[in-house]
Amino acid sequence: MITPSIYGCIEAGGTKFILGIVTDTREVLATLRIPTEAPSITIPAALAFFREGAIRHGPYAAFGIASFGPVDVDRRSPSWGHLIETPKVHWSNIDLAGPFAKAFDCPVGFDTDVNGAALAESLWGAAVGADIATYITVGTGVGGGAMVEGRPIHGQRHPEMGHFRPARHPHDTRFDGICAFHGACLEGLASGPAIIARWGASLSDLPADHEAHDIIAHYLAQLVIAQQALLSPRRIIFGGGVMDTSGLLQRVRDQAAILAADYFGVATIDYDALIVSPALGDQVGLMGALALAQRAR
Ligand code: ZN
Repeated sequence: MITPSIYGCIEAGGTKFILGIVTDTREVLATLRIPTEAPSITIPAALAFFREGAIRHGPYAAFGIASFGPVDVDRRSPSWGHLIETPKVHWSNIDLAGPFAKAFDCPVGFDTDVNGAALAESLWGAAVGADIATYITVGTGVGGGAMVEGRPIHGQRHPEMGHFRPARHPHDTRFDGICAFHGACLEGLASGPAIIARWGASLSDLPADHEAHDIIAHYLAQLVIAQQALLSPRRIIFGGGVMDTSGLLQRVRDQAAILAADYFGVATIDYDALIVSPALGDQVGLMGALALAQRAR
């Protein structure tokens, strides 16, 4: 009997790490969710989980880490696999990939959480067959990754789609935005904490007729239009906790179609097919890490 390869998979988020031991055929053998505390606590806790897993399931073929950012994804850089200057306290310049490569003596695939998600959705989910696809998460922060012809985009660093500046909604001119760097960028206006900062509740807890729904959809639709203008994706996938709000995805589709102003082939584009939820659901982060691990092997 051939033993299937197993992979150590890490979805490293700003509030939680999701750890998984996953087979080549995407079967999750073990999983654990731990809070993101200081690196000196969280990284050893993750190492302990995977050490115990190795005793039970055998050695890992590779690790995959899909991380919150910003991160260094340049393989030629001495700080590859590290977080870069991040507003997340204690995590700037932390080596995330190194401890796992060293402890388990195997290759490590490393990328942003959203690039990992875009990769997983293009392999197994909503973007199969799409030569250009993007994945956007709207949660604690706003981020976006892009797949172009089978490869996640890196370039000088990696895309930072949450930090572009949308035009202000006419009913939302008094709020300064909460981005530590830009104030009223998309993340500063439309992330979960930005919603709570101006309306005192998460979007899903506000009444369906509250103007917050249209305001947030208006900002997210501007990212759709920007992507159509700059990248021409065939699929735009919206994940993250804020997107669990009932009706939000449809509002984004409706507003994007209006903002497109009969351009981008609006007459022929099916916005219901262009703008979708992750087909991999809650597992998209872990599957992104798996895809990165398989590529690193
Ligand atoms: Zn920003």
